[in-house]
Amino acid sequence: MAVVRAKINVTGIVQGIGFRPFIYRTAVKNGLKGYVRNRGDAGVEILLEGKEDAVKNFLRDLKEKKPPLAQIHEVITKRLEGKNEHEKFAIYKSSKEAKLSGSVIPPDIAICNECLKELRDPNDPRYKYFFITCTNCGPRYTIIERLPYDRENTTMQDFPMCNFCQSEYTDPLNRRFHAQTVACPKCGPKVYLTTSKGELIASEDPVRKAGKLLSEGFIVAVKGYGGFHVATATTKDEPLVRLRKVKHRKQKPFAIMARSLEVIKRFAEVSLREAELLTSYTRPIMLLDKSNDYHLSDLIAPSLHNVGVMLPYTGLHYMLFDNVHEPAFVMTSANPPNQPIIKNDEEALQRLGDTVDYFLFHNRHIAHRCDDSVFRVHSENQVFIRRSRGYAPAPIVLKEKAKHCVVGLGGELNNTACLLLGNKAFVSQHIGDVENVETRDFLESATKHLIHLTNSKVEAVACDLHPKFTTTKLAHDLAEENGWQLVQVQHHYAHIAALIAEYGVKEMVGICCDGYGYGEDGEAWGGEILLCTHENFGFKRLAHLEKQPLIGGDLATRHPLRVAAGMLHKKVKIENWLLQNKRHFPHGEKEVQVILHQLEKERNVIETTSCGRVLDAVAAVLGVCYERTYEGEPAMKLEAVATKGKDVLRLEPRMKGNTLDTAQMLSEIFENREGHSKTDLACSTHMYIAKGLAALAIEKALENNVKNVGFSGGVACNEILTSTIRKIVEAYNLRFLVHTAIPPGDGGTSLGQAVAASFSQF
Ligand SMILES: [Zn+2]
Ligand SMILES: [Zn+2]
Ligand SMILES: [Zn+2]
Repeated sequence: MAVVRAKINVTGIVQGIGFRPFIYRTAVKNGLKGYVRNRGDAGVEILLEGKEDAVKNFLRDLKEKKPPLAQIHEVITKRLEGKNEHEKFAIYKSSKEAKLSGSVIPPDIAICNECLKELRDPNDPRYKYFFITCTNCGPRYTIIERLPYDRENTTMQDFPMCNFCQSEYTDPLNRRFHAQTVACPKCGPKVYLTTSKGELIASEDPVRKAGKLLSEGFIVAVKGYGGFHVATATTKDEPLVRLRKVKHRKQKPFAIMARSLEVIKRFAEVSLREAELLTSYTRPIMLLDKSNDYHLSDLIAPSLHNVGVMLPYTGLHYMLFDNVHEPAFVMTSANPPNQPIIKNDEEALQRLGDTVDYFLFHNRHIAHRCDDSVFRVHSENQVFIRRSRGYAPAPIVLKEKAKHCVVGLGGELNNTACLLLGNKAFVSQHIGDVENVETRDFLESATKHLIHLTNSKVEAVACDLHPKFTTTKLAHDLAEENGWQLVQVQHHYAHIAALIAEYGVKEMVGICCDGYGYGEDGEAWGGEILLCTHENFGFKRLAHLEKQPLIGGDLATRHPLRVAAGMLHKKVKIENWLLQNKRHFPHGEKEVQVILHQLEKERNVIETTSCGRVLDAVAAVLGVCYERTYEGEPAMKLEAVATKGKDVLRLEPRMKGNTLDTAQMLSEIFENREGHSKTDLACSTHMYIAKGLAALAIEKALENNVKNVGFSGGVACNEILTSTIRKIVEAYNLRFLVHTAIPPGDGGTSLGQAVAASFSQF
């Protein structure tokens, strides 16, 4: 049998998930000699010496038996000349070499079952150790400072291993063999409780003590893997009232963390798919329908039919519940208004000191902040509301390879960055609303970190068409600084391009509905039917919702009665109705008079085709929501009301050429508002819009001989609209496509921008 030497380079997610121990075991099992080591480009390099058959078997095992969290993108095998020189197989010290690109370190991983068992075992050295982890679990992305993924390049460098941990770390048969996060009560990070001023509170068991304080109704800031959460009880109103007041959050729902799946089932409906996601190693927040037995405080998710719930994902989280009966705790990201989630202790003390009663700190610093991910399930389909912890920076593998390496910087709200390299899109963690210097800096550093992690050579930077967005300015700066091409991509085109890339289809008639996007004509768009093709930069706007006036511009976005007034004014007499509702305007009757005057003179009015604004207007007419205190609030509350309704009005969509009439629909709702229930009228609204959008899209798809109809934009998070449009579109034998790998909302536009820019010629 011939004896060979082979050098193998593996790219993908191959560091930080027990890959080298796996390679070691596989090589030894096959009687091979040589070494394995991590590389500075996040890849892994293997040298094998031995029989040809053994190498073949090794390569087969490599693909078939790889660790569950590994993602292999490419295996490059090269035969080497020369004599065999190794006497055994070994794990070598990492090399700094960084030539290959596209590998990346894994996302943070929730505590595994084996670690959880040890956490509960009084005979285990890591009994009650809040940061127990192994090669299969623990933080990754949030602790890494440099590549390769070795302990000294992570924030674990401050915690030298004790002899016991070291012995496990060096034992090839141990689950913690080369686990960079290995630690125990003796050598690992410590946890401690302080007052709101940072004064230490002596406690034998700070985590359980914090759990007790939470259940008693105190507010505690809890430091986790990727940032601080603000936590409190869920069964009492008082702390929630206080929390809403200090956080200036009137209505925005709080996410909660429940002690177990069984407990969740006592207050929410959980389908099989939802249970699967809740318990997966990514542990996202799931938006679950409240059940009839919902018994938590109504202040958690006011006037919504669903509530955001997650399960514990660290030992610390599990321990919070140990000595208390509370079914769940509020666990909301600690971020001051318009700021990224807090990750530094000093910043937490400074910014949260007035909000919280206690802090639960640990002494490991956070290298990269990362918010929780959020999902919703539409029948069987998962819909990302936010893609962050547990997912970033793992790539989304696309069907087609991009011709250029591009970074997309996204738009303004709920932003992310995306690095497109070949057929992989690396989307950053949730950045937030990029409107100030702090979030701009966060976006810039996350973008640079992605480029560094993947060792990419960027050719172009893509951004929104809006001339004044902070992200547009950042794109200009980066293009100039690095000599990159700059490509501006219209907002709704970016949404549909992302959908085209997710499915790898050649062409699509895309329905794109959201709150706002800067149109090619400079106007406010948001209810669009676009024709887009793969590999041709640009799109055709085939149809849209009727233009509606926004009285007072941005003010109308905040106060949906203004949108309703603008839409109704031409159809019905609204003066009395507005006066009846004057208390819902900040300046009362005076404001109503100004609005009526503006309507008459058509002054201070901009127009929009936004679907979000139409839903807002209906919410205001039905008295479901008069003030938007968070993004999407009126539309979300309208959906909550509609879920229990029947389509009583059965309105047929009215088209005016290529536009769907929305003013007539609103006036019908208005005229019927006393004769029917809110729930039924909200349902009829949804049916009208869904039927109208579907009809337009189907007509355009048939006209242009296109087989794919897509639905994107924030409105596509709405289950009633999505399922209704799907039914109609599929009845015409057309394929209906929605996002599954990225959010339909603006967190997905960075990917769409990068993909669209890669189609352009440069
Ligand atoms: Zn583990
Ligand atoms: Zn130790
Ligand atoms: Zn959008």
